Amino acid sequence: MKWTQSLIPTLREAPADAEIPSHQLLLRAGLIRKLAGGVYTFLPLGLRSLRKIERIIREEMDRAGALEVAMPALQPPEIWEASGRAQTAGDVLFKLKDSSGRQWFLSPTAEEVITTLAANEINSYRQLPKNFYQISVKFRDEIRPRFGLMRAKEFIMKDAYSFDTTDESAMASYQKMFDAHKRIFARCGLQSFPVEADTGVIGGSHSHEFMIPAATGENEVAYCEACGYAANIEKATSGIPKTAAREIGAAIEKFPTPGVVTIEALAKEPYKVAANRQIKTLVYIADSKAILILVRGDDQLNETKLMARTGAVAARPATADECFATLGAKPGSLGAVANVPADVKVFADERLRGANDMTTGANEDGFHLKNVSIERDIKVTQWFDLRTVSAGEPCVKCAKPLKIRRAIEVGHVFKLGTKYSEKLNATFLDADGARKPSVMGCYGIGVTRTLQAIVEQSNDKDGIIWPLAVAPYTVCITPLGVAPGSPAMTLAEKIYTELTARGVDVILDDRDDRPGVKFKDADLVGFPLRISIGEKSLAKGEVELKPRNAPLQAIKAEDAVEAVMKLVGA
Ligand code: ATP
Ligand code: MG
Repeated sequence: MKWTQSLIPTLREAPADAEIPSHQLLLRAGLIRKLAGGVYTFLPLGLRSLRKIERIIREEMDRAGALEVAMPALQPPEIWEASGRAQTAGDVLFKLKDSSGRQWFLSPTAEEVITTLAANEINSYRQLPKNFYQISVKFRDEIRPRFGLMRAKEFIMKDAYSFDTTDESAMASYQKMFDAHKRIFARCGLQSFPVEADTGVIGGSHSHEFMIPAATGENEVAYCEACGYAANIEKATSGIPKTAAREIGAAIEKFPTPGVVTIEALAKEPYKVAANRQIKTLVYIADSKAILILVRGDDQLNETKLMARTGAVAARPATADECFATLGAKPGSLGAVANVPADVKVFADERLRGANDMTTGANEDGFHLKNVSIERDIKVTQWFDLRTVSAGEPCVKCAKPLKIRRAIEVGHVFKLGTKYSEKLNATFLDADGARKPSVMGCYGIGVTRTLQAIVEQSNDKDGIIWPLAVAPYTVCITPLGVAPGSPAMTLAEKIYTELTARGVDVILDDRDDRPGVKFKDADLVGFPLRISIGEKSLAKGEVELKPRNAPLQAIKAEDAVEAVMKLVGA
């Protein structure tokens, strides 16, 4: 490809709404353009990288025995009603009506479609196991699309779905996909690591996310360098000790705390109640009902755990008015010892189990209660692990201190079990003639998010540094002086032709521009190799070979092609 024949609109400055390096670089390097918030066009160079990532995914999925299919983006709502997700996934669903008034959903994922297919086409254990995948556009009505391709309303996802006869065989399918994902990210030049994950709205029992460490990532991951334990913060637990029990005896005592509405204020003079001896009482509205959540004063509630444990589809903190309506007091004075209506459930964090000599709100503005023994004085409906782990807490597996880092989720594998197959009748006849639901798994990769994660992980002050396998072009030839028939241009065209004939992706920068401009653009786009041909070095019979992330070397012009072939490993 000749540069002048492509469309590579590089920018000196990043548009103001591009907040993170990868988003800025994708725009500046002329790889993508925004059409609307969360909706992007891929330009020729961006599309080339995208297609290379897709090719790697296809090769690895095929190698793992998955079958490529193409499912429709238009989905009838009935299958979502049948799976029970019309409500639970409701807020991300794009809904539209056709001219007859019939409603449709735009595919955010395809469990319902593939399970419907399996229900119709798979009837015998002899047809199993099967794994189907597709690479297609998905739609999600993200409330806050941001960071370019990272969180878009329209994006490309690879989704795969496995069907097995037994749990054991389903685990083998899961492992195969887990391994395939690992290979895919490695081949894309990414350092990814798997973490234990919450199963969220998709449901299921077992799940891992593939993470790319990045300061700009939207996820937090707790991990242990000593034993390898790693989990999304939404799922992570630690070996932190429970609250120390003290001598019990004293009865509850109400004491005045005028104006004190925070854990910190109560920890100060004159009260001096350490945060770890306080019970924090939170009112949440879960699926339109008020619930109380108790965590220790120095702990933070993890909302994902709350939803996962209670099975709530939607949960949010109650407003001050809703708190008052529930407990007769405002936030800051809330407690669960008295005035808790019978129909309001109380969920307490495990760390409080057995805790006594605690202080909590009195449900009366300006008062707290001390000498509270949680098991004696509070009617806890259910105990759960609800707190968020912090850095430094002992690893749940080996007790060494945990670390926390930010990361980008690029892939997600789930063992679904029979949740969907039961609801959508994806059953098979087993060898013994019994009809059973297939045991399912699902396996997603955010393809467009992966592309941006590569850029986020691999860049410097000059631009992108593409890993070889996914660069839009592997080599950029930059003749300095582009007059047709000039020695530099003639040699450039010769190398271009030879490399292209040998299967290398080459772009020839035939723009009549200053060398500085051309070098800057080549570095910005981030081609792995640049060959510069100037009159001066050419007079010595040499050209310059500049790997994007290594020093320049002068080589004999006639060796250029072989040198490139060696570097690209072809
Ligand atoms: P997130 O937690 O980031 O919203 P998710 O857990 O809802 O993602 P999955 O349903 O697991 O996403 O989808 C599979 C993959 O699709 C994710 O691992 C991610 O890489 C990608 N993905 C999900 N939502 C988006 C989006 N809005 N834009 C781009 N990629 C996305
Ligand atoms: Mg996910």
